[in-house]
Amino acid sequence: MVKQTIQIFARVKPTVRKQQQGIYSIDEDEKLTPSLEIILPRDLADGFVNNKRESYKFKFQKIFDQGANQEIIFESIAKPVAESVLAGYNGTIFAYGQTGSGKTFTITGGAERYSDRGIIPRTLSYIFEQLQKDSSTIHTTHISYLEIYNECGYDLLDPRHEASSLEDLPKVTILEDPDQNIHLKNLSLHQAATEEEALNLLFLGDTNRMIAETPMNQASTRSHCIFTIHLSSKEPGSATVRHAKLHLVDLAGSERVAKTGVGGQLLTEAKYINLSLHYLEQVIIALSEKHRAHIPYRNSMMTSVLRDSLGGNCMTTMIATLSLEKRNIDESISTCRFAQRVALIKNEAVLNEEIDPGLMIIRLQKEIQELKDELAVVTGEQRTEALTDAELLQLEKLVTSFLEDQDPESRLDVGTDMRKIHHCFHHLKKLLNDKKIHGKSTVSSEIKDQDCQEPLKEEEYQKLRDILQQRDNEINILVNMLKKEKKKTQDALHLSSMDRSEWRHSQSSPFPPGNSEGLRTLPSSATTQVRDVSTVGHRSSLLHKKTGMREEMSLGRQEAFEIFKRDHADSVTIEDNKQILKQRFSEAKALGESINETRSKIGHLKEEITQRHMQQVALGLSENTALPSMPDSLEEKLRSQLEEEKRRYKIMFMRLKALKVEIEHLQLLMDKAKVKLQKEFEAWWTEEATNLQVNSPATNSLNHVRPFPQMPESPQERSQLVSNRSNVNTRKILPSPHPIPQSWGHNSTSPSLENSISERPASSVPLTGDSQTDSDILAFIKARQSILQKKCFQ
Ligand code: ADP
Ligand code: MG
Repeated sequence: MVKQTIQIFARVKPTVRKQQQGIYSIDEDEKLTPSLEIILPRDLADGFVNNKRESYKFKFQKIFDQGANQEIIFESIAKPVAESVLAGYNGTIFAYGQTGSGKTFTITGGAERYSDRGIIPRTLSYIFEQLQKDSSTIHTTHISYLEIYNECGYDLLDPRHEASSLEDLPKVTILEDPDQNIHLKNLSLHQAATEEEALNLLFLGDTNRMIAETPMNQASTRSHCIFTIHLSSKEPGSATVRHAKLHLVDLAGSERVAKTGVGGQLLTEAKYINLSLHYLEQVIIALSEKHRAHIPYRNSMMTSVLRDSLGGNCMTTMIATLSLEKRNIDESISTCRFAQRVALIKNEAVLNEEIDPGLMIIRLQKEIQELKDELAVVTGEQRTEALTDAELLQLEKLVTSFLEDQDPESRLDVGTDMRKIHHCFHHLKKLLNDKKIHGKSTVSSEIKDQDCQEPLKEEEYQKLRDILQQRDNEINILVNMLKKEKKKTQDALHLSSMDRSEWRHSQSSPFPPGNSEGLRTLPSSATTQVRDVSTVGHRSSLLHKKTGMREEMSLGRQEAFEIFKRDHADSVTIEDNKQILKQRFSEAKALGESINETRSKIGHLKEEITQRHMQQVALGLSENTALPSMPDSLEEKLRSQLEEEKRRYKIMFMRLKALKVEIEHLQLLMDKAKVKLQKEFEAWWTEEATNLQVNSPATNSLNHVRPFPQMPESPQERSQLVSNRSNVNTRKILPSPHPIPQSWGHNSTSPSLENSISERPASSVPLTGDSQTDSDILAFIKARQSILQKKCFQ
C-alpha cells in the first residue's frame, strides 16, 4: 500500500507579450515546496471589491515556467505515475485550467511538431518500452477513449463514429454492480499490442472528436476527455492477475459562465461544464475531509467514471495549467485555489490483484480430489465408480516411470484406492504380455526386413520416385492455376478501381499521387487486400474510414479544394511536416543501409576471429607446443573492432527505432491536419453552395441544382462531364496577377480576374445544357470567385 496526497503541479503557458511578465513570480528557493506568487496589477486589485489583497501565494509540488518543454513535463509528472501503473497501481493525471491555458497541449500534445507530443504519446511509448523489457510476465494492454459532453458519455473509438454527429451515437452509461464497482456500458475497449497500435487509437479518437465538432459546438473545449490505458499482467503459471488503469484526463475549460457572458446552447454547455467541475470540486472537498462517510460521486458522470481514480485507491496527479496574462488573472487564481484543495486529499493506493478463475478452478479440482482420497483412507470406504480416462492415463504413466526408474528402492505410490491398485496390476500384466509377444516378433521382422531390402532399393525406389514426380507436377499445375486466379482478381480490382477513379486521379487530386490517400478511392472490397500489403494503408485506413474523404469529389470541388488548401494557414504546417517526413525517411533509409553494413562487418569480424583462433590452435598442434599464454595482438585488435562495430550497431538501431516512432507520429499528425482541412473545406463549401442557391438568379433557371455537386454515376454521364470539364480546364483561371486567358470571352485588358468574374453573371457563362454539370461549373466559378474575394480582403 502506498500512501500519499494528490500531487499538484503548475504549468505556465508561454505568453505572447513580454510585458505580462511582472504578473507572477516563482519562488523555488524554499526548502520544502516551491510556490507561485500571483501579483494583482493595481488596476485589477481595485476592481476586486471584496478582496484587496495584492498578491496570492500558492504552493505546488513543482512549478513549470514558460520555458518548460514537453519532455520535462513527462519526465517529472507522468513518468512516476506510469511507473506505479506498471507496478500494478491505478493512476490518474488530469489537467485543469481555463480554455486556452494548455490542457490539451499538455495531455495530448501540439498538432504541429513531433517534439510537442504530450503526455499520452510519451506515456504510451514509455509503457510499451518497459513491457517489452519485461519478458517474465504476460501483459495485455487495452485502450478506451471517453468523451463527456453535456453530462453524456460518448465512445470516441466507437466504429459507428462515421455517423459523425455525437448525438447520433449510443451514449455511454454507468452501471454499478452490488460491490459498487463502476462499469461503463457502450464504451469499447481496444487491445493494443504495440505502441503504434495505441497511438493509432489516440489519433483515431482525436479525429473522431474533431469530426463530431461543428462550429456551433466547439466540443473540444467544453467536453472532458478521458484516455485510459488498461494494463493487466500475470506471471506464467500463476493464478493471480494484476490490473491497473491509467486515466489521462483533459478536462473542459474551467472558466466561469459569468465571465464568458454567453447564452442559449453555449449557456447550457457552460452550465454542464461548470456543474461537473463543481461536482468534481465537491468530491475533492469530501475526499479531503477526514471522516466523511459519503462522497458525492454519483452527482455527475465524470466523478462517477473517475470514482476509483480520484481519491482512495489511486496515485493521482493534477496539472494546473495557467495562462498568466492580465485578463486571465482571476481565472488563474481560481485554478490555483482548486489545486490547493486537491492537494489536501490523501490517497492509499493498493495493488489490484485478482485470481484468474480458470487457473483457480484447476487448483480447486486438484484439492477436492486430494481431499476425497484422504476421506476414503480415513473411512476405509472403497469407491466403486469407474476411474476416469485421465486418471487411468495418469496411473499408466506412473507405472511406466516406475518401471523405468533404475533405483531398486523406488516405489509405486498410488494411495489406498483399490481401484487404482487393481488398475496398476492390470497394466503391469499387459505390459509384460506385450513384451513377450514383441520379443518374438522382433526377430521375425528383422529377418523379413533383410529379405525385403534388395527389392525395395530397385523397384520400390523407382515407384516412389515416380509418385514424387507425379505429385510435383500436380503441385506445379495447382500453383499455376492459383496464379492465374490471383491475376484475374487483381485485374478485376484494378479495372473497377480505374473505372471509379481513373479520370479523377488523372486530374489534380486533393492529395499528391502515391500518397496513401489513394487507397481511399478503392472500392471497399479492395481496401482489405490493400491493407494487407501496406501497413501505412492500415494505419491510415483507421483514420480515413472516418474522414469521409472517400466521398466522391466533383472536379470543381477538387479545384476549389486545391485553392482552399493552398491558402489555408495549416498548409504551411503540413508542408513543413512533409519536408521533415521526407528527411526522416531518407535518414531512416541511410541508417538502414549503415545498419546492414555494420551487421555484415560484425559477421566478417566474427569469422576472422574464429579463423584466427583456429590458425593459432593448428599452429600450436603442429609445433606441439602449448598455446601461447601471451594474448594474440591481432585477435585483440579484431575483438576491439568487433566491440566498436557492435556499439555502433546498437546506437544506430536505437536511432532507427526512435525514427520509426517519429515518422509514425508525424504521419498521424499530418493525417489529422488533413482531416481538419477537409472538414473546414466541407463547411465552407456547404456555406458557399447555400449562398449560391440563395443568391444566384441563374440557379432559378436550372431545374434541379444540387447544393453539393456530385459525380454522376453512369459512365456516359461521366465521360460527358469529363469532356465538359476539359472545356472548363482550358479556360483555367489563374489567380491574379496572372493574365486572364482569352477564352473567357472577355477583353484581355480586364484589370483583374476578380472583376472579370464578377462582371460576368453566372448565367452568362456558356453552359452545357446538362443541369448537373452546369451546377457543378457554377458552383466552381462561384467558389473561385469567393476565394479570390477573400484573398483581396486579406
Ligand atoms: P486548452 O486545451 O487548455 O484549451 P490548448 O492546449 O488547446 O488549451 O492550448 C491553446 C493554444 O496554446 C494551443 O495553440 C497550444 O498549442 C498553445 N499552447 C498551450 N500550451 C503551450 C505551451 N506550453 N507551449 C507552447 N504552446 C502552447
Ligand atoms: Mg483543450
